[in-house]
Amino acid sequence: MKRVNKVALQNKKFLVTGGCGFMGANFIHYLLKQYPQSSVLNLDLLTYAGNKENLVDVPAGRCRFVHGDICDVALMKKLMSQADVVVNFAAETHVDRSIHVGAGEFLRTNILGIHSLLEALRVSPNVSRMLHVSTDEVWGDIALLSKKKFNERSSFRPNSPYAASKAGADLLIRSYVRTYRVPVIISHSGNNFGPRQFPEKLIPFFVLRAMRDEPLPLYGDGCNVRDWVHVDDHSSALLTLLRCAAPGDVYGISSGEEYSNLEIAKRILQITKKPESLLMFVTDRPAHDRRYAVDASKLRKLGWRPKCSVSSHLERTVRWYQQNQRWVRKALQKKQDINAHIVLT
Ligand code: NAD
Repeated sequence: MKRVNKVALQNKKFLVTGGCGFMGANFIHYLLKQYPQSSVLNLDLLTYAGNKENLVDVPAGRCRFVHGDICDVALMKKLMSQADVVVNFAAETHVDRSIHVGAGEFLRTNILGIHSLLEALRVSPNVSRMLHVSTDEVWGDIALLSKKKFNERSSFRPNSPYAASKAGADLLIRSYVRTYRVPVIISHSGNNFGPRQFPEKLIPFFVLRAMRDEPLPLYGDGCNVRDWVHVDDHSSALLTLLRCAAPGDVYGISSGEEYSNLEIAKRILQITKKPESLLMFVTDRPAHDRRYAVDASKLRKLGWRPKCSVSSHLERTVRWYQQNQRWVRKALQKKQDINAHIVLT
């Protein structure tokens, strides 16, 4: 591992892109608590997944919102000229939409948007680090019983248009790091869970359906396994990388907690006190990845440890959605037909 001088994060100006989405908003909350002297410029296009309600309770003086598109290079140059550190969460993120609605927006934001950020970064010597949030899905999937896990040297084998768009961006970043020496770090995380996630994603989707006594649709046999990490642990991992990782380096993020979709669904039914008869198996997603598993030992060597396990924090997460029905209504205002492609028989 390369030796790096630690980067101080207090008193810094952060440009966060996609900060009105699930992980970006939770990161802003976490960052402002950890670094009381730092401030955030939050650029977000407010797609259906972006929700300003996610940031209503952050101190206004420390978090300024800009409505805009990461594909706008001139805007990105202007905003980067005011920042010390950049963290990019902006993306189209729903695998099912990339399959059933179309990949166009995914290619635009997830690849052309990254090109725009990289072009802006090239002319922003004041930015000491840019962290790009990628995904473990770029590595494809692993057999259920395999002892193998993905790591930073695994080859890219994306199986969905979403994952391919993220892999494309990661390759572009690598080329800019090599060619132009831009200081970008890439992280590859497993599935995040926690509050403020748009209800098209598995956990909030199932919680809302369980609350309404509606069936919980599981693709295939429900045994697809995901590597779950709490969104606050993800935020602390990103701060560790910004402080300690070398520019150009790549890190996996994982708590090591693997659960099948069926296990998560059953646990949600227990927590909401609903019967298992609500479980419903539906036609599988095309090319549905069987299992994700990430070896995060490289990150752990920097001192990072997860603190919020699925066993201790899934219940809190479920309660958050139960207790924040106003947030749910606001989140769904822009898009009501979530996961409309799933046919319940
Ligand atoms: P999300 O869909 O909740 O939020 C995405 C945000 O990006 C929204 O606020 C949206 O308005 C904004 N956005 C979209 N296009 C934009 C554009 N062109 N310009 C500016 N803003 C734009 O996503 P999330 O779950 O918070 O994921 C954040 C990042 O983390 C993504 O890059 C995703 O690929 C990655 N990731 C997510 C997970 C997960 O479990 N959610 C796991 C690993 C990696």
